[in-house]
Amino acid sequence: MHEKPPERAASQAMRSLSRDAFDELVADALEGLPDEFLDRLDNVVIVSEDWPSGEQRQYHGLSQRETLLGLYEGVALTEREGYGMVLPDKITIFKRPLEQICADEKDLIYQVQVTVVHEIAHHFGIDDERLHQLGY
Ligand SMILES: [Zn+2]
Repeated sequence: MHEKPPERAASQAMRSLSRDAFDELVADALEGLPDEFLDRLDNVVIVSEDWPSGEQRQYHGLSQRETLLGLYEGVALTEREGYGMVLPDKITIFKRPLEQICADEKDLIYQVQVTVVHEIAHHFGIDDERLHQLGY
């Protein structure tokens, strides 16, 4: 459950933001979502990292040229039969891969938004095929 970036990199990638500034974009993306969407989030945390870890790369079978923009790890709401004491779902937004495909901050704001919605949709049990039909 992840999203590989499209086969493109900004010809002139934007300057890297501070972690705080990036986390603020992620928070803004969340706040921009409709309440009925946010109300349905259940036992999920959203964090940011610079890059996917070696473990995450290996688990998702990424080649050297591939990376992830965001990653959803957990048990989707639609699959929580007999769901008990488990760690919360985790959504990770990857800062450096996103910056690399963006030419400026406006572009980054948009891409962060798309990535956050994409990964939250996985939390709701919507798969990649359906998401691509919807344009995410
Ligand atoms: Zn996905």
